[in-house]
Amino acid sequence: MTSIAQRKLTVVGAGYVGMTCAQLAAQKDLAAEICLIDIQEGRAKGIALDLDQMAAVEGFGTRVVGTGDPAATAGSDLFIVTAGLPRKPGMSRSDLLETNGKIVASIADYVRDGSPDAIVIVVTNPLDIMVHLMRARTGFPARRVVGMAGVLDSARFSWFIAEATGANVQDVDAMVLGAHGDSMVPLAHFCTVNGVQLEHLTDRATIAVLADRTRKGGGEIVGLLKTGSAFYAPAAASVAMARLILNDGRRLLLC
Ligand code: NAD
Repeated sequence: MTSIAQRKLTVVGAGYVGMTCAQLAAQKDLAAEICLIDIQEGRAKGIALDLDQMAAVEGFGTRVVGTGDPAATAGSDLFIVTAGLPRKPGMSRSDLLETNGKIVASIADYVRDGSPDAIVIVVTNPLDIMVHLMRARTGFPARRVVGMAGVLDSARFSWFIAEATGANVQDVDAMVLGAHGDSMVPLAHFCTVNGVQLEHLTDRATIAVLADRTRKGGGEIVGLLKTGSAFYAPAAASVAMARLILNDGRRLLLC
């Protein structure tokens, strides 16, 4: 992996998730340059300028460059792909398939051509299908195209467990596997609070309620926001994955 001094991270999509990814990655000094690309070029440029000015206060060294030009992404070490429509209340993630499929396919083409050695973290929904599309279209090996879901879904389960048990969320270790949708699998048996199995801390009925709320966790936020979907925790999960990959963090994250 390239040294931090030359590292280039591209965030595709400067919407809620993308701009928050750029902010978190810049504040963590993950790369020398973050390229933020959006079809709304002015939006990408405006957010990049705002983030560069934030560096004067926050003291990070990362330069954020906004663009609408795919050529500007060339030579990236890692992509976080957030471009595409989010859900509206009442929609399932798969309702986004046709529109977001076209968007992700067009992004895959310039990822492959301009950054043939890059690693890609896909965030756009419907996630599992978009990951497969990105992999098929780039021709990249599976280990270089991953989807962001397990870290987020586990974070949601962790929060509900912390609320129910009164624990500090940092002491909760939760695991959710499977597709990013209503069929995801919260694995209560593998959840612990400071090493103590969840099953010793609360009853089965409560665990079932927490698992169900986790499965519907994204929809709960969509319903509250009315327009758009969750972005703070999704961006934090994406940047946590990027950080581990770029820094060879040797930890196990779900993807
Ligand atoms: P948003 O509407 O705020 O932003 C999307 C951005 O993508 C817009 O700025 C739009 O101009 C841009 N865009 C559209 N086509 C593009 C293209 N071809 N190239 C570059 N940019 C393009 O949406 P959001 O809230 O940021 O969500 C983005 C996506 O992430 C949605 O599909 C959402 O469902 C998904 N999401 C996934 C997870 C997850 O767990 N995997 C979590 C949250 C959101």
